[in-house]
Amino acid sequence: MMLDDVANLELVRSRRRTVELRVFPDGRAQVRAPQRMALRDIEAFVRERRDWLAQKQAEFAQRPAPPVPRFEDGAEHWLLGRSVPLRVIPARRRRVGLSTDGLQVMTDCQRPDTVERLLENWYRAQARVLFEQLIDQHFPFFQQRGYPRPLLTIRKMRSRWGSLSSRGGMSLNLLLLKAPLPLVEYVVIHELCHLQEQNHGAGFKALMDELLPDWKQRRQQLNGLTYL
Ligand SMILES: [Zn+2]
Repeated sequence: MMLDDVANLELVRSRRRTVELRVFPDGRAQVRAPQRMALRDIEAFVRERRDWLAQKQAEFAQRPAPPVPRFEDGAEHWLLGRSVPLRVIPARRRRVGLSTDGLQVMTDCQRPDTVERLLENWYRAQARVLFEQLIDQHFPFFQQRGYPRPLLTIRKMRSRWGSLSSRGGMSLNLLLLKAPLPLVEYVVIHELCHLQEQNHGAGFKALMDELLPDWKQRRQQLNGLTYL
């Protein structure tokens, strides 16, 4: 098999040490490989994962495109799995908060780009508190095994919910704050498990089974959410 035989697959050489295969929601796939890795080894890696790749691309193709959020009064937004209406309220001082009425953005400027920025800052602050709490809650298992606590970065990502770097930095997708809490918890535990298991092999699955027996259902629910 040649890499060119796989539809929409791009080879990216980088200064990484391991090879990785990624699929994006638009169906494109990338194999990221170290500079000097032989092409036939990269091809072997992709060949072993061809079924997985085809399955992922099919999954993404089935998923409807998420709605583009609007940043005007009355628009629907999502917070921890609940639909909340956006309330844009003219005010002299800028402030964002959750009330029984919805997600209130008080602002002197009601332009959508301004409202979007205020709301995103608020989402980031909430995400920071929640994600750190979840790491605190699940990290002790790994701490006992001598792993350092990961440093958290929150990013808006298109193709993944989270990642853990070899230097111990954990990235979590800001969009997760829109998903139900048990699904956010699944992603946090998944990334923590990468402290011990770098890939998604049998060791990784056994660890997930131990820490979160229903992780497969949670993963399925997360990938089935239509508003993310
Ligand atoms: Zn992973």
